[in-house]
Amino acid sequence: MDESSNTPVALITGCSTGIGRATAHLLAKKGWHVFASARQLGTVTNLSSGRITPLCLDVTDEASMATSVQEVLAKVGRINALVNNAGYAQAGPMEEVSMDEVRRQFETNAFGALRMTQLVMPTMRAQGTGRIINVSTMGGRVVIPFIGTYNASKFALEAMSDALRMETRPFGVRVILVEPGGVRTNFNAAANQNAQQHTTNIKSPYNRFLVSLMRFTGQIEGMSSTPETVAKVILRALTTRNPRARYIATPDARIMLAVMLRMSDRMRDAVWSRMLGLKA
Ligand code: NAP
Repeated sequence: MDESSNTPVALITGCSTGIGRATAHLLAKKGWHVFASARQLGTVTNLSSGRITPLCLDVTDEASMATSVQEVLAKVGRINALVNNAGYAQAGPMEEVSMDEVRRQFETNAFGALRMTQLVMPTMRAQGTGRIINVSTMGGRVVIPFIGTYNASKFALEAMSDALRMETRPFGVRVILVEPGGVRTNFNAAANQNAQQHTTNIKSPYNRFLVSLMRFTGQIEGMSSTPETVAKVILRALTTRNPRARYIATPDARIMLAVMLRMSDRMRDAVWSRMLGLKA
């Protein structure tokens, strides 16, 4: 490993699969020293190379987060980029998701990202430079019924990023949102598993709508992008001279946001009610 102080250092959460893993590969290929973290070290040890150091990190565990940042600093003494990527989608009607499910969703998708940011900020401020990428979603700006818990956690992430972007700028730190649409990773299978638990375990009055939602997400799966596409957008956000506040990372998200954000609430409700059969 070339440990010259010119080698930029990135810490990425959620590298066991998907976008995190693709980003670790891409940054390493582009000459970064990547600390690729995951909840289970065994899922990232095979990434280990001259440029990638595996790390055990659970973003819902304070000690794990603090130790990981300390480990990076002990090894290389700096952090140029933090990529808050770890996340998952909790599906289910808002009436039925358990409060434990809601708390776990926020701990992972929103509070974990904020805590990681708090932990790297003193170092980035001392360096006078640093970038923090928060991997959000188009669902961080428009809500889809029956994944409202996920949407809420990503809306929170977006709000925190907007505040952080303004607050950290005077210290040379840039906070940037990356918003993918559909991406072919383990993410959908995990979300569907959540939804299925609701359709099968609970004698729910919402069941038929959930089935419609799962059918709809299956139908649009063909439009989804690869994790490598999102990794490229993350690299751009990390390296461009003057990064934007947010990058919409996939074509479907660009279309969806362009259309949905122009609609009135009434129109958006009508679209979903038609698609999922949510008639009064
Ligand atoms: P993925 O393949 O399921 O990867 C998610 C990663 O997050 C996994 O490494 C997972 O680790 C990790 N993770 C979950 N909970 C964690 C925790 N408590 N601590 C640390 N890591 C944790 O899905 P992905 O598509 O790459 O998702 C990455 C990000 O992209 C997420 O924030 C997601 O919201 C966002 N996103 C995805 C899509 C999509 O369609 N795929 C669309 C928009 C946004 P384990 O293997 O240990 O579970």
